[in-house]
Amino acid sequence: MTDYTNDQLYAIAEGARANAYAPFSNFCVGAALLTEEGEVYTGVNIENSSYGATICAERVAFVKAISEGKRQFAKIAISAGDVESIPCGICRQFMYEFSPDIEIITKADGVLKVKSLRELLPEGFVLER
Ligand code: ZN
Repeated sequence: MTDYTNDQLYAIAEGARANAYAPFSNFCVGAALLTEEGEVYTGVNIENSSYGATICAERVAFVKAISEGKRQFAKIAISAGDVESIPCGICRQFMYEFSPDIEIITKADGVLKVKSLRELLPEGFVLER
């Protein structure tokens, strides 16, 4: 597995922010998702005139990776610039389906923070498989 430090992964997320489409909130978010195989998929938030059609950066990164056949994920870094952006409830559940133990990397007051998804969503929903 290609190794990325948390700082490197966060920098990729920060770079991806430039492609965010957030004309309504101006809250631009970038995400960098690391697969267990060591590949990185980026995502950005994409807003829509029909607000409910908006999708978060985390889910965009997951959708890109899953559609390419990836199923196992190690880490995801999320950048919203100077403010911390932790995953919303929908994204927590979405990620839980694939990797309940994924590490979530954010930055607050200039310092990286790492939490496991299980900390953020202790009893995520999964159908018996
Ligand atoms: Zn979200």
